[in-house]
Amino acid sequence: MIKVNEHFLKLQTSYLFSSISQKISDFAKDNPHREIIRLGIGDATRALPPACIAAFHKAVDEMGQDASFRGYGPEQGYLFLREKIAENDFQARGAEVNADEIFVSDGAKCDTGNFQEILSNDITIAIPDPVYPVYVDTNVMAGRTGTVKDGRFEKIVYMECTATNDYIPQIPEEPVDLIYLCFPNNPTGATVTREALIQWVDYARKNKSLILYDAAYEAFIRDDAMVKSIYEIPGAREVAVEFRSFSKTAGFTGTRCAFTVVPKECMAYDSAGGAHSLHTLWNRRHSTKFNGVSYPVQKAAEAVYSIEGKKETAAIISGYLSNADRIRREMDELAYDYVGGQHSPYIWIDAKTDSWEFFDMLLNKAGVVCTPGAGFGRCGGQHIRLSAFNSYANVETAMNRIREALKDA
Ligand code: PLP
Repeated sequence: MIKVNEHFLKLQTSYLFSSISQKISDFAKDNPHREIIRLGIGDATRALPPACIAAFHKAVDEMGQDASFRGYGPEQGYLFLREKIAENDFQARGAEVNADEIFVSDGAKCDTGNFQEILSNDITIAIPDPVYPVYVDTNVMAGRTGTVKDGRFEKIVYMECTATNDYIPQIPEEPVDLIYLCFPNNPTGATVTREALIQWVDYARKNKSLILYDAAYEAFIRDDAMVKSIYEIPGAREVAVEFRSFSKTAGFTGTRCAFTVVPKECMAYDSAGGAHSLHTLWNRRHSTKFNGVSYPVQKAAEAVYSIEGKKETAAIISGYLSNADRIRREMDELAYDYVGGQHSPYIWIDAKTDSWEFFDMLLNKAGVVCTPGAGFGRCGGQHIRLSAFNSYANVETAMNRIREALKDA
C-alpha cells in the first residue's frame, strides 16, 4: 500500500489567495461597471528592462545556431553571471562573496523552501510572525513541527513582530538552531538596522545557529548607508546563507532567475559535533536535483549589471517607490499607523479592526483590493498589506477612493 507523507496532512490550507479571488469575482459580478484596483499583489507589473530584453533576444538567437547552441549548463549557474553578481552585489559594497559561493536558481521561493533539506530534523526553528508562508510550510512538510494549535505549529518559536518592537523580530530567549530573517520584509516592509543584524550574527555564532537571510527586496533600499547584505556584517560568513532574486529587482517574476549565497566558512554540525560545510552539502543537493537556469534567462539576468541595465532597473524600482510614497502620504493624512514603504514595495497598515473586515470594506466601498494580514500569521490579524506594484495612476485613483471610503467608514 502506498502511504502518504503524513506531515503534509498537517499543513493548513491557505485560504488567503483563493478567498481573495472569490471575493473579487463576487464583487465584479455584482458590480460589473466598477473598475477594481489591485493593491494586494506581490508581483511585478512593469515590463522587463530593455537591456535585459536585448540580451535575452541575442541569447535566443545564439540557441538557433549549431555553432553557438548551448545544452545543459553548469547546475550552479554560468560563471559570467556569478562573477557579475559577486562583484556588483557584494564586493562593491565591501562584502566578501566569491563567484563560486553563488548558486543560480529559478527562484528564491524554491531556494528558501529547499535549503532546510540539508539540515537535521532535530533542530529548533525561529520564524517571524507575520511571515512569508514558505518558511513555515516547508518545515512542516519536512516533519520538523508538531501539529497546529490555534493557528500555530508546535515546535516553532514564533518571533512576534508588532508595533511594540517596530515589527522587527527579537532574538528569542531560548537558544534556537535555525533562524529565518527577511529584510526588507514581506509582508511588513520593515527594514533592519546594522546594529540589530550585528546582534543576530553574534547570537548565531555563540549558539552555532544558522541564519537564512531572505534579501529578495534588497533593491528597494534607497539609502546606500543601510545594510543590504548580511555579509556586510563581520562574522556573517560563518553563520548565514543569503537568498536573492531578480524577480522584484528587475521584473523577473515570470522569467525566473534568483541565487543563493553559501559562504565556504558556513558550517552545520553532526550529532558528534563534527563540522560539515554547507557549501559542499548545498552544492551536492543543488546539482542532484536541479539542472540549471536556461542560458537566455541567465544572459538576461547578466544584463541587469550592465550600465544601461543598472539605470533601467533603478528607474523601475524608483517608480514603485513613488507609488509607495503616495500610499504612505495618504496613510499619514488619514492618521493610520503603518510600517514599510520607505525601502520596500509593501506598506503594512494597522487596520484597527479585523483584517478581513477591512478588506471587505475597502473592496465594497472603494473597489480596491488589499491583502488581509491574517493570511501571514496571527500577528497580522488586524493589519492589511498594500503593495506598490502597480501604475502610479492606479495608485493615485486608489488613494482618492480609499480617502472617500474611510471618510464615512
Ligand atoms: N522571498 C520573499 C520574501 C518573497 O516575498 C518572494 C516572492 O514574493 C520570494 C522570496 C520569491 O521570489 P522568487 O520569485 O525568486 O521565487
